[in-house]
Amino acid sequence: MTQSYVIIGDGVAGSSAAETLRGEAPDADITVLTDEGESLYNRILIKEYAKGKLPAAPISIHDVSWYDDRDINLELNTLVVDIDVTEHTIETHHGDVYDWDKLLLATGGTPTQLPVENADANGVHHFWTFQDARDIKSNIESADSSVIVGAGLLGIDLAAITAAQDVEGKYLMRGDCWWRYALSEQGASIIHDALRERGVEPVFQSGVDHFEVDETGHVTTAVDPNGDQYDADFVGIAIGLNFNTEILQNTPIECDDGIIVDEYMQTSHEDVFAAGDITQFYDRILGERGQNGAWGSAKEQGSIAAKNMIEYNSEPFEWVSSYSITHFDFPFLSFGHPTLGDDTAEAKHSDTEWRRLAFKDGRIVGGVLIGDLSPQSKYKQLMRERRVVSGQRDILMQEEFELDDLEPIETVIE
Ligand SMILES: Cc1cc2nc3c(=O)[nH]c(=O)nc-3n(C[C@H](O)[C@H](O)[C@H](O)COP(=O)(O)OP(=O)(O)OC[C@H]3O[C@@H](n4cnc5c(N)ncnc54)[C@H](O)[C@@H]3O)c2cc1C
Repeated sequence: MTQSYVIIGDGVAGSSAAETLRGEAPDADITVLTDEGESLYNRILIKEYAKGKLPAAPISIHDVSWYDDRDINLELNTLVVDIDVTEHTIETHHGDVYDWDKLLLATGGTPTQLPVENADANGVHHFWTFQDARDIKSNIESADSSVIVGAGLLGIDLAAITAAQDVEGKYLMRGDCWWRYALSEQGASIIHDALRERGVEPVFQSGVDHFEVDETGHVTTAVDPNGDQYDADFVGIAIGLNFNTEILQNTPIECDDGIIVDEYMQTSHEDVFAAGDITQFYDRILGERGQNGAWGSAKEQGSIAAKNMIEYNSEPFEWVSSYSITHFDFPFLSFGHPTLGDDTAEAKHSDTEWRRLAFKDGRIVGGVLIGDLSPQSKYKQLMRERRVVSGQRDILMQEEFELDDLEPIETVIE
């Protein structure tokens, strides 16, 4: 009997699942539904478009014919509003109902709004979709001053966009350094210097109490909790993601700041799977539940979910996630779970070279490399092998080291 697969979300997780399903189940009925008005594009590259460095065309990954050629039914501008796991149906905002044998939830997240006065004013931007990037580009090109809020990997993209567009900016941060959960002040100071060189001034122990607007409703000023005022006719906010789980409200599917899945991407319902940023998955390397917010991980999860939707237990997800930023003269890479663990080791090798590893129970669970990315494959291998190495941090922190310099494997866990 022909199996029907419905995928909610045409980001990289949903799209890669559709591709794998078609490859492995040539006769299956496959439907992909997305509330966006365009099919899969490269979310990583939309910042380059907003900077004015890349035209729109190369950002698209699949045009509509890609789905037609593979006999995949793609529905754009279609919001799924309800799921019935007993009847095996979903309903869209048009009132259309689709039956499924297996369902994939690949709905990602939506940027968290700053809960302050005038956070919805004109000129205040959040950043997730290509349409957001178009709006940001058109606003920043006519801006004279900017404020960025959110000291993480997306906030720094917004800061880099203002810098690339030659708009002076203030980057308001709650603590004493950028991405304080993964970097020490020593590591972050490399990033702060690079921001200053590009005309973006970090402001520490700050944030936004409210925004002021002009008579047209356009933002003019950010006022921080200390009462300090910063001119801003462009504001970029990146303070986190709310995971798109509302459609699961009437289902028994287990959620906890994301959708809980096992290592086969199966939810608490045997016919419902999830993939991408939305998942709280069982991380075999970490030995506990983890969550990734990275392109490569979402793509792999989509593909693994598809295989297990066809035949459960066929392949587990086991992956060391990577996330790089390329705004500066030096490279930057974070991998694994750099904000987790119970111990860290760090070293600075030059004004633009710094590294830090996070350990849990003596094993590497993540890290950040600035300036010199050459040890990344060794660290990732040690992480995959679950080797207990925290006692050998002197070797791990050397500018150059070989895996053979380390003591032989002490412990491997399954
Ligand atoms: C500006 C920016 C820069 C980034 N840079 C990097 C980077 O350098 N490196 C890196 O690894 N990662 C980066 N990321 C993160 C990476 O893009 C994400 O981890 C990845 O795209 C997640 O893919 P996903 O398919 O899980 O979710 P998404 O891409 O969020 O896709 C989910 C889709 O589901 C749709 N949807 C949600 N709910 C419904 C519904 N009810 N009905 C229909 N459709 C629905 C959404 O509209 C969306 O299209 C960046 C992200 C952004 C925004």
